[in-house]
Amino acid sequence: MSRFTKELRVIPKPAWITAWFAYLCVSVPLFFFVAPTDPAMRKLPRWEQALLIYGFSLLLVAWVALIGYIYSDAKRRQMRYVMWTLLATFVPHAIGMILYFILRDPLPKTCPSCGHLEKLKLPFCPHCGALLHPTCPKCNKPLELNWVNCAYCGQQLPEPATRAGLNHQGA
Ligand SMILES: [Zn+2]
Ligand SMILES: [Zn+2]
Repeated sequence: MSRFTKELRVIPKPAWITAWFAYLCVSVPLFFFVAPTDPAMRKLPRWEQALLIYGFSLLLVAWVALIGYIYSDAKRRQMRYVMWTLLATFVPHAIGMILYFILRDPLPKTCPSCGHLEKLKLPFCPHCGALLHPTCPKCNKPLELNWVNCAYCGQQLPEPATRAGLNHQGA
């Protein structure tokens, strides 16, 4: 739940305002002007009409909020956020949105040394040269922290603590 609320905070305020404004613009006229004249809706009691209209209109809020989320999320992931926002909005059946969640890039990491955002899994920071990810001294492939041997070339690895120094010598 905490992760979900954290992600909700990514959605920009204008998206929420647009979402609730669209909600009112759709649900209120539907309830007061369309429902009393629609032959199918007229048969239902007023409270059921309210439940249906105000309930289903919430989907609209979710839809606009999701587009707002994709806009901000693509931006912080240094992706082409305008293109993804348009795809999410205009490709029918939410295909643009589904594609976005399948294809989105991982969140960029901040360099612990200089604070620049690094998008790629680079071994060194291009701005200050700090070691970001340990690499194998023999084949230079990225290593996982708990590896004892390199999974790519079989090279036995020194203690994790000494890897940083070894990398700097190699570079
Ligand atoms: Zn750096
Ligand atoms: Zn290796």
